[in-house]
Amino acid sequence: MDEVMDYDEVLERFDPVLGLEVHVELSTNTKMFCGCPTTFGAEPNTQVCPVCLGLPGALPVLNGMAVESAIRIGLSLGCEIAEWCRFARKNYFYPDMPKNFQTSQYDEPIAFNGKLDLELEDGTVVEVGIERAHMEEDTGKSLHVGGATGRIHGAEHSLLDYNRAGVPLIEIVTKPIVGTGARAPELARAYVTALRDLLRALEVSDVRMDQGSLRCDANVSLMPSGTTEFGTRTETKNVNSLRSVERAVRYEMTRQAAVLAGGGSILQETRHFDESTGTTSAGRRKETSEDYRYFPEPDLVPIAPSTEWVEKVRATLPEMPWQRRKRIQADWQLSDLELRDLVNAGAVDLVASTVDAGASPSEARAWWVNYLSQEANSRGVDLGDLSITPAQVARVAALVASGSLTNKLAREVVDGVLAGEGEPDEVVEKRGLAVVSDDSALYAAIDEALAAQPDVADKIRGGKVAAAGAIVGAVMKATKGKADAKRVRDLILERCG
Ligand code: ADP
Ligand code: MG
Ligand code: ZN
Repeated sequence: MDEVMDYDEVLERFDPVLGLEVHVELSTNTKMFCGCPTTFGAEPNTQVCPVCLGLPGALPVLNGMAVESAIRIGLSLGCEIAEWCRFARKNYFYPDMPKNFQTSQYDEPIAFNGKLDLELEDGTVVEVGIERAHMEEDTGKSLHVGGATGRIHGAEHSLLDYNRAGVPLIEIVTKPIVGTGARAPELARAYVTALRDLLRALEVSDVRMDQGSLRCDANVSLMPSGTTEFGTRTETKNVNSLRSVERAVRYEMTRQAAVLAGGGSILQETRHFDESTGTTSAGRRKETSEDYRYFPEPDLVPIAPSTEWVEKVRATLPEMPWQRRKRIQADWQLSDLELRDLVNAGAVDLVASTVDAGASPSEARAWWVNYLSQEANSRGVDLGDLSITPAQVARVAALVASGSLTNKLAREVVDGVLAGEGEPDEVVEKRGLAVVSDDSALYAAIDEALAAQPDVADKIRGGKVAAAGAIVGAVMKATKGKADAKRVRDLILERCG
């Protein structure tokens, strides 16, 4: 177990520097250099061909959609788009990469020198510089079997799935982020959130951190307070949720501070984040770029996007998340605070989609910001990773609006959907949750309750309307809470003249 320093002390003695590398898998139909499909979750090794298996003599052909997506991403990050750039071979051996090199971009990225503005929880806006966004291909996946940790150490054997090999990736790299102090962990999370929302709006990726289509490596270093020369960084990998990004940065700050304060030095290495303990452990010593023997890819022609093409792509950029937030605030008449709650809950897109699916803005907000956020918190997952869709939430809201469900029953329906019991209507059916809206059934229950409590019945008949509460209670009990209390009350008063 590594020693860590108390967080407040870290901040008194050191200033953190951050660098965030985000890999995003593009949602193109086919891979970067061949026609294989990219569907997630297919049977292992069913989406492969000689090109992505790296068989001798196979030649790559560049996917035009992937280049267009890279340009879209670059433009929306305010980057310059290279007039001319190339792919390069990054040479290293690993079993999940059968060519023995990764086709990537090195010193000639397609997009460079941009920025992304983010809003922190209290509304402060911070500008993060973007160094570059470049194209590359994903590797296959190794599955290490037999060990306790699922990592290669201690495993009995490993399995390889090349379905992911060659899936188009864009790597987006920030400039070093300085001057954030105590808020470095929060900023790291806010950055990945903002980038995810942007990529989702661009419709270039499904940005599922839980499925690995959005992955973040967090570089962290410390320098003694008041100095400006960067310390040695570590690069924490395997950070699979927004919450983990924040935790990983914070943990690394406290671990590195303890090492430095004890007179030690930080090794430039990759580290592995462990979700269950919230700690990082050493990975491999970091290679330098010389180790990779980069050289221009001879099997692919250079990319030279014309100005016309770039401008055409620019003209098709969608409404950006920050513009959308402004518009939504006006359309739904939200206060700054209400908007911020929505943003902080990571719920803007979800609520907007729920409204698009027919719910009212206030209903949609109530579900996502209150009930579902709590569910996500208690499960330790991000809101968007809950297994319920905006369309399903909208359906539940519609059932409430039409009187088929009470709010209480609606929550049970949502619980059922989250538990994988199917669509809202199926859950209503299977769990028998529909409100008893059949008046004859309600009259029967009311008559029974009135007969059982004749003194109460007399009071109501005598004009004591407040006494109806007892009968409402009895009817609700008889219908196991599946009646609309207001309707029951109206029927009781009607019954008693
Ligand atoms: P690598 O190939 O080693 O992953 P990259 O250039 O892709 O390197 O990414 C390194 C990231 O770390 C960038 O975001 C960069 O801004 C950031 N960075 C560079 N030096 C430091 C440092 N000393 N401390 C923290 N972050 C750093
Ligand atoms: Mg990198
Ligand atoms: Zn292929």
